[in-house]
Amino acid sequence: MTASSPGIDEPTSAPNGTPRRAAATFAASLSFENVGRRYGDAIALDGVSLAIAPGEVVCLLGPSGCGKTTLLRLAAGIERPTSGRVLINGQEVAGPARFKPPEERSVGFMFQDFALFPHLTILQNVAFGLKALPRKEAEREARAMLSRVGLASMSDAYPHILSGGQQQRVALARAIVPRPAVILMDEPFSGLDVQLRDSMQEETIALLRETRATAVIVTHHPEEAMRLADRIAVLRRGHIVQVGTAEDLYDHPSELFVARLFSEINEIAYRTKGGAIETPLGRVPAPGIADGDIAILGLRERGIRVSEPGQGLPGRILHSKFLGDIALLEVGVQGFDAPLRVRSHEGRGRPKGSEVGIEVDMSRALVFPPAAEV
Ligand code: ADP
Ligand code: MG
Repeated sequence: MTASSPGIDEPTSAPNGTPRRAAATFAASLSFENVGRRYGDAIALDGVSLAIAPGEVVCLLGPSGCGKTTLLRLAAGIERPTSGRVLINGQEVAGPARFKPPEERSVGFMFQDFALFPHLTILQNVAFGLKALPRKEAEREARAMLSRVGLASMSDAYPHILSGGQQQRVALARAIVPRPAVILMDEPFSGLDVQLRDSMQEETIALLRETRATAVIVTHHPEEAMRLADRIAVLRRGHIVQVGTAEDLYDHPSELFVARLFSEINEIAYRTKGGAIETPLGRVPAPGIADGDIAILGLRERGIRVSEPGQGLPGRILHSKFLGDIALLEVGVQGFDAPLRVRSHEGRGRPKGSEVGIEVDMSRALVFPPAAEV
């Protein structure tokens, strides 16, 4: 589905009332207010609230089955919420009293599998969302967009002969050419190999910035989310766990689940006493955790420094794996029952059995209650 109607509040209807394509993208705000969606007894989304500003790029990040696609489908109008409201530019498009169908929402949708029409040429695929325009004009627009994504020479070909990257470009062109106010993309890079993914991410974000559309991009790759998004919304089991910039989420994860998404961490359990835990690296506050309860100390594998013996805590390399820029080490460290995992550039060239000094910036240590079962 690619809707072709103009921005919600833009006076762009033709005199006969048929919606025309907007002359330019008018980015719209998109808000979810306490949105829920059930399928029978299964709860796909529960109490999701998220306000996305015009022109903002937000990534929905979370494991499979957490409700990402469902949230996109609700925004597009492919599904209805069972509770709560969806608003575009402050106007309710789905709620108890109203439901606007997809074609009246000015949203573009890029499906996970691209969903190109196999029986239409590339040009016809891209022009599909421009039905409201005279045919010649639609074709001209579609050709211009195909040039923009570097596929002008493929206009008359059919989708099956295209590579994955080319199909991705056509799907993107098709979603963007009607200049929707909001563009929704479901795991747009998941079908691409790693090298291609990198360049397609760059191209996609450039195109989104050019069109200035508000964008919601689903992914389950934290790095992809960090790279693409102005803000990231982390979902788990139908809930939004935390929303913020990549820096917010990395530096100040609200819980262990979020911390684990953004960096590899050592997790060490302690019993809380006097509002803190006693670790071999000193006393660390455990805010919000009751005395006697378990607190998890999170030490980032990249936040542990390996230096000469005598500095910091004494340690011994138990295992070392060369990973290119860094080495992945297991280090027995005095005071810790289990070895710590360390990812470090300085760890290179230190064979198994080496004595080392281990230093950690404890101002960056994380302390959380144990993770809920996922
Ligand atoms: P994600 O995109 O994050 O992998 P989805 O939004 O597709 O997750 O699904 C969220 C949950 O809702 C899953 O448990 C899924 O099985 C369930 N679900 C989604 N669509 C349907 C449907 N049409 N019927 C029944 N259950 C569904
Ligand atoms: Mg999905």
